[in-house]
Amino acid sequence: MLIGSHVSFGKEQLLGSAREADSYGANTFMFYTGAPQNTVRKEIDLDLLEEAKKFMFEHHIVLSKVICHAPYIINLANRSDERKWEFSIQFLKNELSRCDTLGVKNLVLHPGSAVGLPKQTALQNIADALNIVLSENYSCKILLETMAGKGTECGSTIDEIKTLLDLVHFPMGVCLDTCHLNDSGVSISSFSTYLEEFDQKIGMDKIGCIHINDSKNELGSHKDRHANIGYGTIGFQNLLNVIYEEKLKDVPKILETPYVGKTEKEKIYPPYRFEIEMILNQTFDEQLVEHVIEFYNK
Ligand code: FE
Ligand code: FE
Ligand code: ZN
Repeated sequence: MLIGSHVSFGKEQLLGSAREADSYGANTFMFYTGAPQNTVRKEIDLDLLEEAKKFMFEHHIVLSKVICHAPYIINLANRSDERKWEFSIQFLKNELSRCDTLGVKNLVLHPGSAVGLPKQTALQNIADALNIVLSENYSCKILLETMAGKGTECGSTIDEIKTLLDLVHFPMGVCLDTCHLNDSGVSISSFSTYLEEFDQKIGMDKIGCIHINDSKNELGSHKDRHANIGYGTIGFQNLLNVIYEEKLKDVPKILETPYVGKTEKEKIYPPYRFEIEMILNQTFDEQLVEHVIEFYNK
């Protein structure tokens, strides 16, 4: 089982990320190369990278299964401002080349939001951008994430993801997100039916990552607000069924669940160590928040 969470990529870069993941008992992780909301990025430090590789080797974290996530503000779908669209393309190229330097093989990308454009035009813009980016032959692959369909988000159905994969002339993969699937209208209680359709239309071998999140909202709400596992509308057992699906056993599972705390304002504690424990023990912890707070205040 490959299980981890998103972690930070701070001053120590990949070394810090790997140490954080290890502190949660994870054997893989996902990171952003800088703040997810902006495009300010630091040069990769090669000495730190060597240390990170050594640390990962010693702690059984396989670099080829580690995931990078592109920042949300990249929007390849809208081309009404040509300069912004070209900036997104250039940024994505830089991100893939940073991943190549790091040895990271998978970059998760939100396809983009149409904002005012017809869906078909938006999908074409995304594909055009990806064809430009991928003509440079990076060894890191892009995984398109399935979206909740919030606002004008593209990629919230199997058919839209398939359209993108068909329009792009280079190999790409897909990242499923359980919260996004639920919010887009796919019930995780019938995940096997979804997988069958996915396999027929796209192919199960395209799935390169799964984001494991519960959802704060109802099926089909198009909201995209993540909840701790077992604390949302999807439920613990339905999430376990995804995590333990035999056909997806080599796919990294990444938690993007919210930090917890005593009050709404003070959600400063990462729950991952305990959520991973719940998953490995296959036992729901009814006092997750209390246990996390207690652990970090010891
Ligand atoms: Fe995402
Ligand atoms: Fe996600
Ligand atoms: Zn989300």
